[in-house]
Amino acid sequence: MSAPRTTTDPTGSAEYPLIETAERRALRQAVGDLARRYGPSYFQAKARAGEPAEEVWAEAGKLGYLGVNLPAEYGGGGAGIAELAIVLEEMGTAGVPLLMMIVSPAICGTVIARFGTDEQKRRWLPGLADGTRRMAFGITEPDAGSNSHRISTVARRDGDDWVLSGRKVFISGVDRADAVLFVGRTEDARTGRLKPALFVVPRETPGFEYTAIPMELVTPEKQFQVFLDDVRLPADALVGDEDAGLLQLFAGLNPERIMTAAFSLGVARQALHTAVEYAKSRSVWDTPIGAHQGIAHPLAQCTIEVELARLMMMKAAHLYDAGDDLGAGEAANMAKYAAGEASCRAVDQAVQTLGGNGLTQEYGLGALLTATRVGRVAPVSREMILNYVAQHTLGLPRSY
Ligand SMILES: Cc1cc2nc3c(=O)[nH]c(=O)nc-3n(C[C@H](O)[C@H](O)[C@H](O)COP(=O)(O)OP(=O)(O)OC[C@H]3O[C@@H](n4cnc5c(N)ncnc54)[C@H](O)[C@@H]3O)c2cc1C
Repeated sequence: MSAPRTTTDPTGSAEYPLIETAERRALRQAVGDLARRYGPSYFQAKARAGEPAEEVWAEAGKLGYLGVNLPAEYGGGGAGIAELAIVLEEMGTAGVPLLMMIVSPAICGTVIARFGTDEQKRRWLPGLADGTRRMAFGITEPDAGSNSHRISTVARRDGDDWVLSGRKVFISGVDRADAVLFVGRTEDARTGRLKPALFVVPRETPGFEYTAIPMELVTPEKQFQVFLDDVRLPADALVGDEDAGLLQLFAGLNPERIMTAAFSLGVARQALHTAVEYAKSRSVWDTPIGAHQGIAHPLAQCTIEVELARLMMMKAAHLYDAGDDLGAGEAANMAKYAAGEASCRAVDQAVQTLGGNGLTQEYGLGALLTATRVGRVAPVSREMILNYVAQHTLGLPRSY
């Protein structure tokens, strides 16, 4: 009889999914080693120069980190969202939070891997997996915002083709993307009602125009307004089943929420690490400032909140990777919320811990203040998650 596994035995992770396997810990270590060679000064210098963080993206892609969740037969690592979240969290912890990981391999890669045709998988997945190709994701519209039921980008049939028209806003990384996976609507032939559907649109398609939105973010990725003016697409631009758009969409949105949590938590851990190191060495009275409980307790509190959010993120990833889309939906929303809140508080406290240095470019914390706000607003706002939990978890009536 083999010895019973205890919670201190990390090899028992099949039974204890919250305890990391040796393999995942090795992945964390390897990704961290790579990202630390670049670090926050590289990343923020790129961002301030308006340049993409191409070198680290390319290297992470070549090493298989960007496509760790994608099927092995299409060049991916054959693992899950849990592993991809580990990659992004460690990148962020080392000061290199690659926002496009949320979009390209996590949303677009997942949707194509799960619902694409063999031809779509062959065309897109190997490039998304090794980072040589990128796909942005566009759902948000200026007049719909959080109310995605109101999106008005419409695809109509014209012979075998689709013709797509509409407007999108805040779409990340369009300038560096080979294509965008857009959420549009098609008309139900029977009822005339519009239903969501997903289309891959290569960026160079005639009628596809985009313009950068000036943002107060220090990140190499930019956000864009996109105009789709009678964009003609071949029949196979549609991904998945025209009648199951919503289901397919959610298959991509759960990974998006889990990955946004990973993004926020990486940033939070980077900030806390900087703050703790500073608090150990900075003395303005007789002891390091970290000895004052006014500094130590908030840092300890933030660390606990970050750790709790990490657990929720791993629960969500575990459910998703186990094929429980419904269960993952609730957990992914909660994880994104918890991570967004924890990281806003952690970065705020880190800035405070450094005093004036909290706002210098040398320490790089000021830039994280806006970065953490993204996790509160996107891809679904804090308030909309509270609405979701109020209605779906608690069964409360809705006000809107
Ligand atoms: C940096 C960044 C990157 C992004 N990248 C992408 C991307 O790649 N692709 C993409 O499609 N989108 C992207 N977005 C868009 C993002 O998903 C939206 O900003 C987000 O969904 C909120 O929509 P909105 O900005 O229109 O806010 P609104 O919907 O106008 O909401 C404004 C405020 O009202 C609150 N509110 C609205 N309705 C309710 C309600 N019923 N109850 C309570 N409060 C409510 C909201 O919580 C929010 O605080 C990005 C946004 C940012 C900031």
